[in-house]
Amino acid sequence: MEHEHVRAVDPAVADALEGELERQRNTLSMIASENHVSRAVLDAQSSVMTNKYAEGYPGARYYGGCEYADEVEQLAIDRAEELFGAEHVNVQPHSGTQANQAVYFATLEPGDKILSLDLSHGGHLSHGHPANFVGQFYEVEQYEVDEETGYLDYEGLADLAEEFEPDIIVSGYSAYPREVEWERIQTVADDVDALHLADIAHITGLVAAGVHPSPVGIADFVTGSTHKTIRAGRGGIVMCDEEYADDVDAAVFPGGQGGPLMHNVAGKAVGFKEALEPEFEAYAEQTVANAKVLGETLADHGLSLVSGGTDNHLVLVDLRPSHPDTSGGDAEVALEEAGIVLNGNTVPGETRSPFDPSGIRAGTPALTVRGFDEEAIRTVGTCIARVIDAPDDDDVIADVRETVDDLCSAFPLYD
Ligand SMILES: *Cc1c(COP(=O)(O)O)cnc(C)c1O
Repeated sequence: MEHEHVRAVDPAVADALEGELERQRNTLSMIASENHVSRAVLDAQSSVMTNKYAEGYPGARYYGGCEYADEVEQLAIDRAEELFGAEHVNVQPHSGTQANQAVYFATLEPGDKILSLDLSHGGHLSHGHPANFVGQFYEVEQYEVDEETGYLDYEGLADLAEEFEPDIIVSGYSAYPREVEWERIQTVADDVDALHLADIAHITGLVAAGVHPSPVGIADFVTGSTHKTIRAGRGGIVMCDEEYADDVDAAVFPGGQGGPLMHNVAGKAVGFKEALEPEFEAYAEQTVANAKVLGETLADHGLSLVSGGTDNHLVLVDLRPSHPDTSGGDAEVALEEAGIVLNGNTVPGETRSPFDPSGIRAGTPALTVRGFDEEAIRTVGTCIARVIDAPDDDDVIADVRETVDDLCSAFPLYD
């Protein structure tokens, strides 16, 4: 990764690219939504496909010269259909948010009703937050997790659905460490005659590998992000049954986007091929096993996990019971100094603010890609606990930074 062409033209950007590579190599990336794609996906994404306009869909484009664009997009579609067992997949959304936007645009009129999980309980901006267009164009009501248990409050959801009569119920979350019971939510949707969008952005790779139950074939629409657990590079996808295929396609293009980012579609095709290999399943299983060990290690050091543990790739820590004077923001800053990069996160029953919340969220996908096993993750968990115990202690931070350096050398990235 020399970036010699960039360097010849623009040393400032070349320095930043080099800096980012070194940052990723020399820190532990534990932001639960991030990952490290393969060299093959990187290669595809930085290809000449970035030059190509391919408005439309394979075989029906508005531009000439699309034979290779068609080939790449069809491969991405076929592989996604095989991976997820979906009847129809649109691989053009620029991101997960655009995938959700397409489903709303395909199914709702302005003013229609969306029932989704509260952001501070693990929801996503694109599910109806007032700062997002979704919260302004549609009427939004929000369900919650049970603040005692940290698990989704399925009964509360059913009651709220009865009362609110939503046009669509959105499931799928950004900071929910437990398995989602798609059928239970589908039953609620059926009972109130609502559609169901399952947004698996975070767990796209876990679902593809079969280590988390799939909503495909249960929910009416399933959206995913391709750059999170599935490691297929930046982007989003929409999956649905054949009956909605034309509406979804029209909602992606021309409804919400212009030409597809064909270099990213190429990245998706390559990433999906990798995800069909047996090694991907092993990676997904290890990601979940690592998250479990991370949770256990943090709990052993006295930290409080929302829901008491995890079934997926992330843990959510509520700092209030163990460290009432340390905010998630404080922890994030101190941990980054020690070379561990994660984010402060709101927790159910949040009493601080979204800008300086009470929790931290930590994920294992990126470390697992580097080869971290349970033993290495136990060391990482101990490091995190040590820093949270002494966020202002420079000696502790320097000591942890040394351990992080050792781990980074033992598990090299883009070698
Ligand atoms: C990450 C995420 C998305 C998509 O976000 P983008 O940044 O637009 O890809 C959508 N929904 C949920 C639940 C997410 O966590």
